[in-house]
Amino acid sequence: MTEAHGIVIVGGGICGLATALALHRKGIASLVLEKSEVLRAEGAGIGVQANGWRALEQLGVAGELRKTAGLITSYHDVWLQGDKSTRDRYPVRTELRCLNRKDLIEALAKDLPAGAIRFGCRIAAVHEDPGGHGAAVLTMADGATIKAKVLIGCDGGTNSVVARYLGLPPVRTIPRLVLRGFTSYPHGHPFKNEFLRLRVGDFFIGRLTITDNLVHFFVTMPPPSPDAGLAGADLRDVRDLVLKELEEHQCPAEITEVVRGSDPESLNLVTKFWYRPPWEVALGGFQKGAVTVAGDAMHAMGPFIGQGGSAGLEDAVVLARTLARAAGGAGEGEDGEAAVGGAIGAYIRERRLRLVLLSLESYIMGVLLVRSPSPAVKLACMAVLVLLGSKSLRHANFDCGRL
Ligand SMILES: Cc1cc2nc3c(=O)[nH]c(=O)nc-3n(C[C@H](O)[C@H](O)[C@H](O)COP(=O)(O)OP(=O)(O)OC[C@H]3O[C@@H](n4cnc5c(N)ncnc54)[C@H](O)[C@@H]3O)c2cc1C
Repeated sequence: MTEAHGIVIVGGGICGLATALALHRKGIASLVLEKSEVLRAEGAGIGVQANGWRALEQLGVAGELRKTAGLITSYHDVWLQGDKSTRDRYPVRTELRCLNRKDLIEALAKDLPAGAIRFGCRIAAVHEDPGGHGAAVLTMADGATIKAKVLIGCDGGTNSVVARYLGLPPVRTIPRLVLRGFTSYPHGHPFKNEFLRLRVGDFFIGRLTITDNLVHFFVTMPPPSPDAGLAGADLRDVRDLVLKELEEHQCPAEITEVVRGSDPESLNLVTKFWYRPPWEVALGGFQKGAVTVAGDAMHAMGPFIGQGGSAGLEDAVVLARTLARAAGGAGEGEDGEAAVGGAIGAYIRERRLRLVLLSLESYIMGVLLVRSPSPAVKLACMAVLVLLGSKSLRHANFDCGRL
């Protein structure tokens, strides 16, 4: 027996849950299929700038989330090169907070109706519904099938089955090691409410305050040799390795002590970044009938400008808005199907330029930070960043509009 549903969302990460919540707020039911057995919130903290907060406001969860994460009021940039060092502090001009990913995921999930998320449900393949009408048939890992009138792939950047169904090329990867985690300070941390960004050689390190008692950090470094045996290693051992490297590079105690004191349970390791290059975001076919993608499945962009998650929240608001218009304007049957197809087309048109600009900015930052470009390429990159308004964080001022 094939189950039949209206809107099916593959993936219960930030974007999938936000899309389900946005649809729910518009009175539209959906079913989220998530392969893990519980809500996943890996990666410790996530920086959310003003554009993300605007989307969270539309989703009705900004107020409660603001209570969990204090305002970050300044950037503190430190660059250490041998004996030389530069320090620069400047104010954050738009809203920036670092959320505990768990708080974000739980806030997005908690208002969904019972049964709206089905856990332990891995989609192995997507096929066109032989009955036509642009819908899709999903085959689960256990062989069962589900028919979806509308299918939204929010199944992440690394191996999205929905992106594959749409014919999108696999995302590209950059080998890079990132260790992330939380450090607790039961008696209050000694830091300002700032985002410390430290560059030491090939290391890029961040420290963001969340509350008076909780700090998020990340350490990004070139990947160690394959025989370093990181795959499946105890994350405490990875932390020791990272600390050893930081000390060898004379990284200041204001960072090493945070990493050393981190909660082992909160540690998370990423060994590569994944991204869809900006030209694929510009030209990608993100729709086949009533099937589309959102979040990293559509526009994975690496962490270089900290916008991947917020861009997924914006997708959710825009997609729910356009689908709600279609649901309000057309009835059942072929008219309804044409309206849904039109709504998805409108969503993609509305999002495309925004996502191309974000992907381009992130891609260029990646070239500058990871690839050691020639002076000419560096100059060209800097010129594009000026045009994109990167220094003034123009990307953070975006407003995806009302739900
Ligand atoms: C080191 C690092 C730091 C970052 N920092 C920031 C930041 O500060 N700010 C920011 O905005 N963004 C940041 N990002 C990006 C952000 O984490 C991602 O853009 C965001 O998590 C993507 O959400 P998503 O829901 O689209 O995908 P995911 O979070 O990947 O969720 C996809 C979900 O789909 C499920 N799934 C996958 N395949 C299937 C299947 N076949 N069947 C069923 N379920 C499936 C997965 O289990 C998962 O739950 C960072 C990324 C990295 C790597």
